[in-house]
Amino acid sequence: MITLKNLMVYKNGFLRKLNVGIENGRIQFVEQRSEGEVVDCDGLIALPGLIDMHVHFREPGLEWKEDWRSGSKAAVHGGITYVADMPNTKPPVIYKEILEKKVEIAKSKSLVNFGLYGAITNENVKSFSEMDEGVIGYKIFLAASTGNLLLDEKYLAEAISSSEKPVMIHPESQKIVEKYLARPIDAEIEAVKKVVSLQGIIKTRVHLCHITSFTAASIVLEQRETNKLTFETCPHYLFLNDRFRKENGGFGKVNPPLRSEEERKGLFNLVVKGKIDVLSSDHAPHTVEEKKSSSPHSGIPGVETTVYLMLNLVKQKLIDFGTLVRMMNEIPREILGLNNYGEIIVGNKANMTIVDLNRRWIITKKFLQTKCGWSPYEGMEGYGMPVYTIVNGKIFDSQKVEVVYDESEG
Ligand SMILES: [Zn+2]
Repeated sequence: MITLKNLMVYKNGFLRKLNVGIENGRIQFVEQRSEGEVVDCDGLIALPGLIDMHVHFREPGLEWKEDWRSGSKAAVHGGITYVADMPNTKPPVIYKEILEKKVEIAKSKSLVNFGLYGAITNENVKSFSEMDEGVIGYKIFLAASTGNLLLDEKYLAEAISSSEKPVMIHPESQKIVEKYLARPIDAEIEAVKKVVSLQGIIKTRVHLCHITSFTAASIVLEQRETNKLTFETCPHYLFLNDRFRKENGGFGKVNPPLRSEEERKGLFNLVVKGKIDVLSSDHAPHTVEEKKSSSPHSGIPGVETTVYLMLNLVKQKLIDFGTLVRMMNEIPREILGLNNYGEIIVGNKANMTIVDLNRRWIITKKFLQTKCGWSPYEGMEGYGMPVYTIVNGKIFDSQKVEVVYDESEG
């Protein structure tokens, strides 16, 4: 048994000073007493284990960009205890045998909890449900992106009305992308409208990935009639705009693209108002050479920086812990069917993110654990960082990314 003493424990919107006892991977008590080894956590805040429901850890097939070990190290460093990984690895996750192999790899290398998405594509639209048992959900690419796993729009209704698992949609209209040979905001708006128009037939859940703009987010917020439809945005759409792309070339290239300052600001204000369902990183690492090349790949890393950026907003009193926990634990776990994952209650598996709101950080190359070795936020400074990332009772020092207390099962 280990007792984390004098933690400010987050529960239902409130912080209360309590001691948390952990043994055999589970929370044994949340009260005043102490037992076993005692670790003084005065001044630290315990949040439910934070979830990043949109990452690309690149393994199998693209390990020079990231792999399950380096990606999950970055997650631990970033205070993330659970990741959900996208299917555009190599080979893509479109059949059961491929999924099973990927599960084995992730299991043997990941330091954090994980779920894997399968893809619904033109190729497997009739058979994708054979993966139901092993996936956390499915991904649909309405426009081609890394890996090119397209689903024609004509199959969209069939897929979302039949899937027993949550469906994540990359909302850009392939027609518009092809017509302009670019990715204007209209491609996003058109696809979002299309999905919203189908909300009545959703069987399980539909989640719109990486909304880039105030305009598209507002369409969902105004026209949503069911809680089966949700959406996410990502830090790069909140902290960067199209000027970053102009000034940093390939390093600012991402699908869908960074938008105007006006759209960014509008989206940021929706976070402040607590109107965004989910914040995920869409961690999409590519190497520095790939980003510097004449045809740079699209994608921005972020699994290890998201929580720092958000804690800094809490420190500045722009958002409260409730908003952060809702976007990075409560709504993701609801969408993915993870029940009370991370909740700090007796009997639950010990998955927590313990933070110090007063610790100062600066993002540098040296700071990073991701294999790709760069971040668009290099040079940025702020307050608030994860101190312990607790995964199934294993207590990591988030900064050193090493286990300091092991209270996991056996
Ligand atoms: Zn993605």
